[in-house]
This record gives sequence, structure tokens and C-alpha cells, in this order.
Amino acid sequence: MGKVLIIGAGGVGTVVAHKVAQNSNVFDEIMLASRTKSKCDAIAEKIGVNKIKTAKVDADNVDDLVQLFKSFQPDLVINVALPYQDLTIMDACLIAGVNYLDTANYEPKDEAKYEYSWQWAYQDKFKAAGLTAILGCGFDPGVTSVFTAYAAKHHFDEIHELDIVDCNAGDHGKAFATNFNPEINIREVTQKGKYWQDGKWVETEPHEIHKPLNYPNIGAKESYVIYHEELESLVKNFPTLKRARFWMTFGQEYLTHLRVIQNIGMARIDPIIYNGVEIVPIQFLKAVLPDPGELGENYTGETSIGCRIKGIKDGKVQTYYVYNNCSHEAAYKETGAQGVSYTTGVPATIGAMMFMKGLWRKPGVFNVEEFNPDPFMEELNKQGLPWHELFNVDLEM
Ligand code: NDP
Repeated sequence: MGKVLIIGAGGVGTVVAHKVAQNSNVFDEIMLASRTKSKCDAIAEKIGVNKIKTAKVDADNVDDLVQLFKSFQPDLVINVALPYQDLTIMDACLIAGVNYLDTANYEPKDEAKYEYSWQWAYQDKFKAAGLTAILGCGFDPGVTSVFTAYAAKHHFDEIHELDIVDCNAGDHGKAFATNFNPEINIREVTQKGKYWQDGKWVETEPHEIHKPLNYPNIGAKESYVIYHEELESLVKNFPTLKRARFWMTFGQEYLTHLRVIQNIGMARIDPIIYNGVEIVPIQFLKAVLPDPGELGENYTGETSIGCRIKGIKDGKVQTYYVYNNCSHEAAYKETGAQGVSYTTGVPATIGAMMFMKGLWRKPGVFNVEEFNPDPFMEELNKQGLPWHELFNVDLEM
């Protein structure tokens, strides 16, 4: 049993709040805090009276965070605000003696660049304080990293090739919308591609490598190699990997909108002066795009995310495909949020459960693949994200 503080009341925060409240045998006190308190109140009201406390917090401000941590005294903070807040929240955790979990690695606001170096630099401080920091506990990163650890533990002597495949075959009926925070999403998918090959990173132009891949229950979808943050920790933690890539599906309509947004300067992250006021174009764009948290109502179809792995078992080459399919409609029915928020919020909750139960608890800063994958995999089946495995199938790679 433990006390948990959720920071961020967006699509993912909505799902975490629902799932944490469903698991009252593990979480006995829950607080949801965010920049806009009314959003926290609306979520808490939907879940039911008195289950969740709410608060306003500016997660860019360490003093504000420390004050909240000291008054509520949580055992663990689940950070589902934005990647910009990772370091301030980690700093506040160290000051107030609170453990930490997030779903996305730190990004500086003024540079579309994400890497773990900033958060890995907290290793000694968390160790010395006897606190645990669990990094990247959404679906990807998160479940894909646990899938890889599970495969390496149970099905291979050595893993050599890893292809993470992320398909969203859903339809929200909008001409253009992003499935999670538009600013973070557009920064992610417009950057150059990058994958790991024979001990070094190979850079590509954005969306340069692509081909159709077949997804279970969905069929063939054009899939593009993009850089994704879990590749950085996975190649470090599984040094036998000779190649590691991340593929994501995009529709033509989505890519056309993205190209236009970039060409007209609306993806810019540097401030410009508009009517005498400083604005950042991509932040303005976010304000006029559909709110990802509101896409759920008419969202049909499903996501399919998994790991396709090739390696050696008992001297023979083996292939393995482990994946989850998640229905947008079912996610909405349960939590009021769409599948992408659901597939992120459920693993964050499971990671928090792993911590509370003492199964994922050791001083220091860790990526999820560094913990025992077995109890997490078991819990995925119970908490709404069942997984399936296929052996020695054509991986299409
Ligand atoms: P949203 O934009 O919907 O929600 C973000 C929330 O954080 C909002 O409630 C926002 O407040 C709040 N927030 C932003 N800045 C601050 C601040 N300074 N202080 C306090 N609260 C703040 O994003 P999502 O829910 O879609 O995504 C949440 C996180 O999940 C992101 O970090 C994203 O990268 C990550 N993610 C991870 C995935 C994975 O698989 N690993 C997949 C998808 C997302 P307000 O409501 O006032 O704007």
C-alpha cells in the first residue's frame, strides 16, 4: 500500500488516474496535480467522490513542487506532464525524499533533442538518497523495453536484431490531429531518423526508410524508420544487439499535413514576435489543434505495438514477435481516453505498482528493461493490455 502523486492531467494523466483508482489494494491515497486544477477536478469527479485529491502545481518550479510533496508526502510521483518537466520534478524528488517514475525522457524546450544523458546524470544523487527513479514506463518506451527484456531472459541466449513496430490503425475522424501532446509529437516525428547498426548510429533523412509491414488483425501498413528514445537505453543494456530500429506507421494524409506545417513555419520551436507579443509557433499550433485527450469519443480501430526480435537460442537462429493490440473504443469506454493515452497510462500504473510492491525498487536511476520483466508482463494481461507471442515467423525485416 502506498501514496501516489500523479502530475499532469492530460490524456495520459486521465488514464493513470482511472487505473490507479481501480487498484485500491495497492494505492491507498491518490493525488492528481497539474497546471490547471479544474482539469484535475473534472477527472476526479468522473472517477468518483473522495477517491482522488487534486491540487494545482507548476511543475517547472522546484519550490512549488517541493511544497506540494512535503504537504502530501507521496511515496512515488508519476510524472505524466511533459518531458520539459522531468528534471525539475526529479530535483524536487531529491529534496523532498520522493521516488520517481516517468514515461518520456527529458527534452530541453529550445532544442528538439531527446536523450537520456540528462536523467542518467542523476544516478549518483538518487543512489545516495536511497531513492528509485524509473524512466520511460509508457508503452514505447516502456512495454517495448520490457518485451525486449522478457525475450532476452526467456527465449534467447543472445538477441541480435530488434525491430520495434508501432502501428496506429485507428480513425478519429479529424483531418489532422496528434495522438498525444502535439508539440512533443510533432517534434518527435519531424526529426531525422536514426538506428543502431554494428556498434554505431546511422542517421537518415526524416521518413527516408519505409516499407509496408503486416500487423496482426490489421494488415499491411506503410511503416517508417524514425528515432525513438528507447533505442538508446536498449542498445546499452543489450550489447549483443547488432541492429536496433523503430518503425512507426503514418498515413499519407498525416504526412501531407506534417509537410505543410513544416513548410509554412508552424513547426518552429523558436519564439517569434506576433502583434508585439512573443509566441512559439508550435505552441500556438497546439492551441488550435484538436486536444488529444478529447479524441476518444469517435475513435475506431486499434493500435498494434510490438517487438520483432531475431537471435540465437541453443545454437540455432530463432525469431520472436511479441505484441499487444489495443482497441480505441474499449479504451474510451473504460477511461474516457483514446488508445494511445491508454497504452501509455496503463504501463505507467503497472510500473508504479511494481514499485509499491517492492518488486522494482532499488536506489538509483533505471530504465525499465533493467528490472525483472516477469511480474510486469503478468500484470499487463490483468490491467487491460494483453500480449501475444509468435515464434519463428517471418519478421518481414
Ligand atoms: P497532454 O498535453 O495531454 O497533457 C500534459 C499535461 O501536463 C496537461 O494536463 C498539462 O497541463 C500538464 N502540464 C504541462 N506543463 C505543466 C507544468 N509546467 N506544470 C504542471 N502541469 C503541466 O499530454 P499527454 O497526456 O498526451 O502526454 C503526457 C506525457 O506522456 C508526455 O510526456 C508524453 O511525451 C508522454 N507519452 C509517452 C508515451 C509512451 O509510450 N512512452 C506515449 C504518449 C505520450 P494543462 O492541462 O494546463 O495544459
